[in-house]
Amino acid sequence: MAEFASDAVLVLLETTPAGDLASSSAGLLGAASTIGTPVALVVADASGHDALAAAAGKLGAVSVLVHHGDEATELIAPAVDALDAAFELVRPAAVLLSHSADGRDIAGGFAARRSLAVAVDAVGLGRDEEGVVAHHSVYGGAYNVTSAPTFGPLVITLRQGVTEERPPEVAAPAVSRLSVTPSGTRAATIESFEVAQGSSSRPELRGAAKVVAGGRGLGSAEKFALVEQLADALGAAVGASRAAVDAGYVPYSYQVGQTGVSVSPQLYVALGISGAIQHRAGMQTAKTIVAVNKDSDAPIFAIADFGVVGDVFTVVPQLIAALKAKKG
Ligand code: FAD
Repeated sequence: MAEFASDAVLVLLETTPAGDLASSSAGLLGAASTIGTPVALVVADASGHDALAAAAGKLGAVSVLVHHGDEATELIAPAVDALDAAFELVRPAAVLLSHSADGRDIAGGFAARRSLAVAVDAVGLGRDEEGVVAHHSVYGGAYNVTSAPTFGPLVITLRQGVTEERPPEVAAPAVSRLSVTPSGTRAATIESFEVAQGSSSRPELRGAAKVVAGGRGLGSAEKFALVEQLADALGAAVGASRAAVDAGYVPYSYQVGQTGVSVSPQLYVALGISGAIQHRAGMQTAKTIVAVNKDSDAPIFAIADFGVVGDVFTVVPQLIAALKAKKG
């Protein structure tokens, strides 16, 4: 069995129903590489192990542990069992998962089983003299805090899109088949699933590098098209405030904020959004924030890197025209 570095960071990579690595994988391995040696764990049907291990190597995994089980139709428990076995083998400095629905569930189950501390929704990772720490943006982005465990390796769920770090490709990662003893923990069984066909060619909101979001200031579902036009000119995902969602301009899945999606893009453009704390909670960690609002006192300007005081229906068409002219 392979030897693992003393600074190994065990990273659970999720897979899509189509059997590919989930889009969160690159960011997870990138973040892990900033604090240690990334060791990936993939729980998937054995037929896909070779391709998934190669894909994980491309994203910087130095070693890949693979696990197959007929129990792959069960939710969470098989992944917790596999993570537990991988933890025993690797003895990592930290365990890293995506802050996805599954990632959060698995992190909680695993940490409880091992009596380890969990740091959720991290927006950055680091090290102090005692080990790995996680950075968080809390209370609607009003405070940046750092969490560290009292003892043991930290189990961390990482918000998608928070790091651009991409480690060099590992052409031939060391691949090991993991031996897992099922715990017998009761698990919900997946009896069937349907893939929801998205009709959009735009990037997915969660994890997008660029987001253009619209608020109540757009005024109607028809006029919200302006947000989509700017998003398409920038190649961005579309988001919305809760007021825009509640007014029926766009579906709930577009909502950014405390009770919606948390995003951490390179660029966040807020159009006709006041910047309530519940909205900021989901976007304040964006690298660059641009706001267009006709009220110069709107709270969004307090966190914007670039702000335009003006009517979105005057400003945004000019911006789209300028972007199109630039593209030639
Ligand atoms: P408004 O606050 O009404 O702001 C509209 C803005 O548009 C104004 O600043 C106005 O000046 C500007 N405007 C109007 N017309 C124009 C124009 N033509 N050109 C330019 N600017 C214009 N909100 C979220 O977004 N996400 C959440 O997840 C969320 N969760 C919540 C959870 C709880 C428990 C609660 C209590 C609230 C939550 N909210 C959330 C709601 C939040 O408090 C705000 O009500 C909401 O974010 C406001 O949305 P808005 O900025 O679009 O609307």
